[in-house]
Amino acid sequence: MLNSLRSIVQEVNAARDLQSALDIIVRRVKTVMKTEVCSAYLLDSNQRYMLMATDGLNADSVGQVSLGLDEGLVGHVAAREETINLKQATAHPKYQYFSETGEERLNSFLGTPIIHHREVLGVLVIQQYEERRFDEGDEAFLVTMSAQLAGVIAHARATGALDSMRQRGQDAKFVGVAGAPGVAIGRAVVMSQAADLRSVPYKEITDIEAEISFFQSGLNAAQEVIGDLGEQLKSRLNTQEQALFEAYLAMLNDVTLIAEVTDRIGEGVTAAYAWSEVILEHERTFSGMNDPYLRERAADIRDLGQRVLAQLQSTSENNYEFPDKAILVGEELTASMLGEIPYEKLIGMVSVQGSGNSHVAILARAMGIPTVMGAVDFPFTQVSDRELIVDGYRGVLYADPGPDLRKEYEEICVEEAKLVKGLEALKDLPCETTDKYRVSLWVNTGLMADVVRSLERGAEGVGLYRTEIPFLLRDRFPSEEEQRAIYREQLEAFAPHTVTMRTLDIGGDKALSYFPIKEENPFLGWRGIRVTLDHPEIFLAQVRAMLKASEGLNNLRIMLPMIASVGELEAAKKLIFRAYNELIEEGFEIELPPIGVMIEVPAAVYQAKELAARSDFLSVGSNDLTQYLLAVDRNNPQVADLYQAFHPAVLRALEQVARAGHSQGSSVSICGELAGDPGAAILLLAMGYDVLSMNATNLPKVKSAIRGVSLAEADALLQEVMAQPDAESVGRCMDKAFEKGGFARLFGPKITH
Ligand code: PEP
Ligand code: MG
Repeated sequence: MLNSLRSIVQEVNAARDLQSALDIIVRRVKTVMKTEVCSAYLLDSNQRYMLMATDGLNADSVGQVSLGLDEGLVGHVAAREETINLKQATAHPKYQYFSETGEERLNSFLGTPIIHHREVLGVLVIQQYEERRFDEGDEAFLVTMSAQLAGVIAHARATGALDSMRQRGQDAKFVGVAGAPGVAIGRAVVMSQAADLRSVPYKEITDIEAEISFFQSGLNAAQEVIGDLGEQLKSRLNTQEQALFEAYLAMLNDVTLIAEVTDRIGEGVTAAYAWSEVILEHERTFSGMNDPYLRERAADIRDLGQRVLAQLQSTSENNYEFPDKAILVGEELTASMLGEIPYEKLIGMVSVQGSGNSHVAILARAMGIPTVMGAVDFPFTQVSDRELIVDGYRGVLYADPGPDLRKEYEEICVEEAKLVKGLEALKDLPCETTDKYRVSLWVNTGLMADVVRSLERGAEGVGLYRTEIPFLLRDRFPSEEEQRAIYREQLEAFAPHTVTMRTLDIGGDKALSYFPIKEENPFLGWRGIRVTLDHPEIFLAQVRAMLKASEGLNNLRIMLPMIASVGELEAAKKLIFRAYNELIEEGFEIELPPIGVMIEVPAAVYQAKELAARSDFLSVGSNDLTQYLLAVDRNNPQVADLYQAFHPAVLRALEQVARAGHSQGSSVSICGELAGDPGAAILLLAMGYDVLSMNATNLPKVKSAIRGVSLAEADALLQEVMAQPDAESVGRCMDKAFEKGGFARLFGPKITH
């Protein structure tokens, strides 16, 4: 059964469109389950379950027969969201007969809902003429089948939506997760990871002859590389491995394979795209095979495919063209991709992977670039050069928008620009409540571009300088001197204001290409301080660079990420003292900077007092703290709804940390994204946070909100909020207060679509 299941899913995955996927499903399920009818019904835009594919019923009834939401047995399965297994379907009160389908003698019925992300997409049904109660094994198989296929169907439906909606003159809408607020209307530039077969963008070409000869030269080059590699390794390879190289070379000479690719190129697409399509099809065929030996060959095909693709991409014009209003689209956008784009042309971003608190989203917020993350069903390889609207407020995007939608979003853009302009006036005004209670608004930085934006917006210091960003943008560790120069630039730009430099925080979703960390569970693994304490040479070089950079400026604070115990803090402090003493001995005239601890692990919340007693300041990293408190991966769009920044557990932890820090006379900051939310900022102020550190983009909005309330009002709101049992009711409290205070616009525009 497992093999059948796997091979059906593989075949469905390889289907070109939704209709062929459904046709495969009904045909294969009917055979495997040895029944007489298998049909698939999908919910259509009229809220009816339409018969979309059948093997066994009258084929003409496809697209004709449909049932309402709780109509007939199909509607009943969907409404109950449960499998229904009937020996004699005709006796069931919900049974409905359709003459078009020719099903009069079908007695037994087994129907199971197809559910994706809590949404019923349709119903999968098998039927039989003789009276038979399908057994438990049948039920289990059909349930497993529809659970596995739900994602594939949802994806195929969304992918097909692009073309069918365009044909019907509708805007193709895709839902993701809000990444960075704002709205952008521009042209898609699809950026793929090098040699990634699944993300080669669809591009059309006109000179077919030239593309075919380009493909040939790519193949020849790959052949040479593989041949040379085989030669070089000959003495070290066993016969089986040598045979693999020969098999690769043979495949590259395989006339059918070459013909398949040239045929596709003949349809007017690039060699890279044609090659990736053909290889992926072969890979799927092999992965779907029952024989384990043949199944494993899928990996060889993929490997070979990637090698040739690398050749095609390295020799092709891989330098992207950027229109003036470029929207960067990719399967998984990374910080280093951002470095490749002319900043002035980049107006929006879309990432298929990742979520609102992925680091690329945090960078996007810092740069003020509207971004949608986790658009898992977005057919990103198909949208090169097409017009997109990115709605970073709601995490929604549209491809090929129609004139009405475009107009609405253009108006929002104008309104947004007005709001930002209006807030500029606040730049030099103090951040204080109406009754003169002051709180410091600092910024989070990482890129040099952040510095100018931060100063323009009136930042009073840096609460988090993410030192890993310059590390991410290189292909080796920066030397101590290179680091010193980078840090000096930051410290000088903000002097005399404080700059809080966090020691290297890699691991989790921040992987250095030159220092790979492979783990099953990276967020619970070797991250932040754990890595640098295990590599004192990296830590010491970084701290020495920071200290040297601060000479004569004395505006540095050092902050330690991911601290989970007093022992880690003590060990890190020891290394910092050592670096400091060495530099003093070397003749540097520097002051020992304040050393602080990030509170981003639940253990640190409960030890905040002990940590505060042994350090100079605490700073809450609410991004990680939320993910660890709620056990929700900050990168996973599937659980993005559960990542609730206003969850009472998070708010209580925040309050507890502020109290514990102050009990030891420590200054308490927050540098997670929560600080940049105008509503949260009011609560944090009332909790007593001394410093709120946020992305430069949000700083004026936060200042505007704080300048509009009194401390007493903020306290009252905090009291009310802390009495709420869940994030939803906290949200309602906040909305009410902000509507009343007239600040609702700070949270984004009202969008009607
Ligand atoms: C945090 O976790 O809140 C934080 C500021 O650190 P980062 O987002 O870089 O993990
Ligand atoms: Mg963190």
